[in-house]
Amino acid sequence: MTIKSIQTDITTLQIDAIVNAANNTLLGGGGVDDVIHSAAGPELLEECRTLNGCETGDAKITKGYDLPAKYVIHTVGPIYGQYSPNEAKNLLESCYLRSLQLADENKCKSIAFPAVSTGVYMFPKEEATRVAIKTIRDYFQDNEIASTIDEVILVSFNEYDKSLIDSVLKG
Ligand code: ADP
Repeated sequence: MTIKSIQTDITTLQIDAIVNAANNTLLGGGGVDDVIHSAAGPELLEECRTLNGCETGDAKITKGYDLPAKYVIHTVGPIYGQYSPNEAKNLLESCYLRSLQLADENKCKSIAFPAVSTGVYMFPKEEATRVAIKTIRDYFQDNEIASTIDEVILVSFNEYDKSLIDSVLKG
């Protein structure tokens, strides 16, 4: 498994699964959620309506509809400030873990993550990046043989976020 860092609009990626930074309703919101729903078309919202929302730290999977990606994995990150810093960190970790598990259950080979919780939900970017990378690395240390995933893409939306991801990846 390799971790790649790419600066792009996540909806353009032609891969097995893209992750959506959704909210508890799964019925659409701002930021990357809005961009994904717009690009996927109204059928995505129809499927999301059948899912009965999603707990913070959990994830649910749908088809990708008009997106080039086959699946969308909707995860709900913590709103920073609504939890203790440690609880927020554990919830963010759980978002990455649950998303990877769902990707594996659906035999995905590639999955792309946006920077969950670091937009409107205000999770500090550097810590969020560290949590993301550590959780992904730990997951593959435990599941390398069983996992179908061979590529994880960390998607940044501006140059600052890209350089942050690149520097944490280098360790
Ligand atoms: P949250 O509510 O979890 O904080 P946001 O959508 O507000 O989610 O932000 C999450 C991250 O997604 C931010 O770092 C933002 O820059 C990034 N982002 C926004 N639009 C896109 C996009 N089209 N592709 C990839 N990342 C995006």
